[in-house]
Amino acid sequence: MQDSDCIFCKIVRGEIPALRVWETDTCLAFLDVAPLARGHVLLIPKKHYRDICDIPADVLCSLTSQLPALAAAVVRATDATGLNLLQNTGRSSGQAVFHLHFHLIPRTESDGLGYRWNAGDYSAGQAEGVQSRILDELRH
Ligand code: AMP
Ligand code: ZN
Repeated sequence: MQDSDCIFCKIVRGEIPALRVWETDTCLAFLDVAPLARGHVLLIPKKHYRDICDIPADVLCSLTSQLPALAAAVVRATDATGLNLLQNTGRSSGQAVFHLHFHLIPRTESDGLGYRWNAGDYSAGQAEGVQSRILDELRH
């Protein structure tokens, strides 16, 4: 399953260049062309799935099984002390390429990238309401 217009499918097919760092029959990892940090890597399934709501669980399991070794290699290769694993689903989340991918972003204390999302809170009953909605969805 491939999408002829998708930039990551084109990378899988070798139609546009990418600096590959890991590859199996079903997945590919390569350097992000506009890195948030040196060694910023993207891990993708070779088949085209739009996002985390679209990919079958077994394909996702196979893809994510690559993460421990890949993450450790990225951290060691960049002398990082940490790593952000990021997956954006949907335009509102910041997704710009609609072929599912995980970002591996190596981090150091002094890299200046920061990481701070403003945490919110719930009004009375609101958390239970959303809990109930999610439980209902998962029962279907
Ligand atoms: P996202 O916002 O989660 O969809 O992230 C898409 C990522 O793909 C961005 O970090 C881009 O820099 C990266 N990207 C886009 N085109 C290419 C490309 N041709 N090769 C490598 N990375 C790319
Ligand atoms: Zn694709």
